[in-house]
Amino acid sequence: MEKLYEGKAKIVYSYEEPDKVVIHFKDETTAFNAQKRDLLEGKGILNNRISSIIFELLNRNGIPTHFIRQLSDREMLAYHTRIIPVEVVVRNLATGSIMKRLGIPERTEFNPSLIEFYLKNDALGDPIICYEHVIAMNLATDEDIREIKEISLKVNSLLRNFLKDKGISLIDFKLEFGKTSSGKIMVADEISPDTCRFWDLKTEERMDKDRFRLDLGDTTKFYKEVLKRIEG
Ligand code: UDP
Repeated sequence: MEKLYEGKAKIVYSYEEPDKVVIHFKDETTAFNAQKRDLLEGKGILNNRISSIIFELLNRNGIPTHFIRQLSDREMLAYHTRIIPVEVVVRNLATGSIMKRLGIPERTEFNPSLIEFYLKNDALGDPIICYEHVIAMNLATDEDIREIKEISLKVNSLLRNFLKDKGISLIDFKLEFGKTSSGKIMVADEISPDTCRFWDLKTEERMDKDRFRLDLGDTTKFYKEVLKRIEG
């Protein structure tokens, strides 16, 4: 297998069928545009499993995702896509960057859920952008954006309901989209505690990467708890 791409938390390898790739989940964890980094033993295994369960849920419900199947502890098989360089964030409750940027108090509810776009560019620190930037910079077409917004809101409602039954509140999350060579848009990357904010429904205990970002400790212990709840 040829290494096609290595990111902060994953490696993408070619596969015997050129329309598919193997995604390998690493234990490396970064935050604040990689200024903070650590190795969290077993995190890659947890994120691969959690992502696989969530992608299976989405696939079952007719949402196009790149996920085909889990191959091993750390690997999943996915469709080969060209990643659209726009990170899509969906927010249900305010926390994180939006509090600082716009002075919105924590826990403010967004109803309808809020969708934001960020330019996927580490050198620029992933700046927030709007629809007009996406069009002006030729990052995606108007039709792509319509589809991306519709899919993002569907993912939100499906995942929110699924997690609520498991005692987890979906605060916000980030999605990435890819396009296949035939032009089909699908949810790509991963959906895990690294890319979502999960709070315990009752206690509001953080069960996601904020444990690492905010030095709350026991990061993988809480990722394990997320897995236990969504497996059951
Ligand atoms: N997020 C992500 N990758 C990024 C930035 C954000 O997965 O590069 C996720 C993050 O985990 C959270 C949501 O997107 O679930 C919103 O993050 P926010 O804008 O509040 O940024 P942060 O506080 O992480 O800087």
